[in-house]
Amino acid sequence: MIQLTNIEKVYRTSTIETLALNNINLTIRKGEFASIMGPSGCGKSTLLNILGLLDQPSKGTISIDNQPVTSYKDKELARLRNQKIGFIFQSFHLINDLSVLDNVEIPLLYRKGDTTGKSRRELASEALERVGLSNRMKHFPSQLSGGQKQRVAIARAIVGQPEIILADEPTGNLDSAMGSEILSILQQLNNDGSTILMVTHDEAMARKTHRLIRLFDGTQVADSQLVANDERL
Ligand code: ADP
Ligand code: ADP
Repeated sequence: MIQLTNIEKVYRTSTIETLALNNINLTIRKGEFASIMGPSGCGKSTLLNILGLLDQPSKGTISIDNQPVTSYKDKELARLRNQKIGFIFQSFHLINDLSVLDNVEIPLLYRKGDTTGKSRRELASEALERVGLSNRMKHFPSQLSGGQKQRVAIARAIVGQPEIILADEPTGNLDSAMGSEILSILQQLNNDGSTILMVTHDEAMARKTHRLIRLFDGTQVADSQLVANDERL
């Protein structure tokens, strides 16, 4: 579904050059739930941004559904991103003066033609139902607990029915009970067919996914299928 070949990412400032990713080869298959671990600064966010078409690699190719997209222009990348990818971040990134429902509708506003106000509201309430927040639609983010905010962010990520969900430390700001709750929602989405890639610092959480990819200093040092995969199937 997403294939990275010989990906290299160099960040250059006037004085420093950082090799953030060094020759990464990675295939994310449809239906997978994979986690990415590694020490701070090893390139996890960079990798997720490249997979999510938010950032371009310095070298190498990215293919989505066997179609190389490395030469696409920003506008085409944005369209593809909007169609296929949902993002979840550690710090939620909700808009505080919009209601929960309005926050979840945001990705649909960028879709051409296909959504009226009514259908946007319907899709957003369905997404909120899937994360168990139907009873909070009119609330504002400041009225929600951290776990609830992250569930709103998940609803926003899935409202456009993306094929893949990229989550950058989705439980990093949550206590372990809320973190487990978020993980079970992600597992449910994966069971329903979403492909999920999650960066985490939590080894126990990573071990509940199908596949564990480890980075160190920009290099992929491990890629293991986990037993949990067979247990779950
Ligand atoms: P992680 O997510 O694993 O903490 P990052 O992908 O954020 O790692 O960063 C990888 C390396 O690239 C780090 O050394 C970081 O300092 C550097 N880096 C990340 N973003 C930038 C940037 N925009 N400009 C310069 N260096 C960056
Ligand atoms: P949790 O028990 O998950 O930590 P909180 O204790 O923060 O959650 O909140 C309990 C409930 O009260 C939540 O369902 C939340 O929606 C609601 N709530 C929290 N803060 C406010 C607020 N300022 N205004 C309205 N409702 C709130």
